[in-house]
Amino acid sequence: MTEKTATYENDNIFAKILRGEIPCHNVYETDKVLAFMDIMPRSDGHTLVIPKAPCRNILDINPDDLTAVIQTVKTIGKAAITVFAAQGLLIQQFNEAASGQEVFHLHFHILPRQEGVELRPPGIMAEQDILAEHATKLRNALG
Ligand code: 5GP
Repeated sequence: MTEKTATYENDNIFAKILRGEIPCHNVYETDKVLAFMDIMPRSDGHTLVIPKAPCRNILDINPDDLTAVIQTVKTIGKAAITVFAAQGLLIQQFNEAASGQEVFHLHFHILPRQEGVELRPPGIMAEQDILAEHATKLRNALG
């Protein structure tokens, strides 16, 4: 990985969500983190947790922000298990294109899993009203 590929770019889609330039189905927010529904969920309840700080991936985030993000992953993950009656929880996080990263603002995927239910293929857009319903259920579970 070169210095050039490690540069944070302000025009990535999650930076636009953080600036309010494009909408998202908001699940949880603090001064340090935002959690929202993945627009192409690979399982019901597929949620993304991102830092508000401009970090490309786990390689350039500072420890305080990473702590806030991972604590949020745990909080949302537990709520997602309850809301989606999950038997397991998959956490995914990619660093650079060679690993599968497509959006270059750090994000953790939270994927509730059921025994015997495969993940959906990537790239399938969900209905907006379904995403809204899932976000509402998660927000309610979080209190
Ligand atoms: P990754 O970089 O971890 O490979 O994947 C990026 C993730 O962001 C994918 O799961 C994709 O569905 C999701 N994603 C891409 N564009 C948007 C968007 O505009 N809104 C939301 N909520 N999710 C997005």
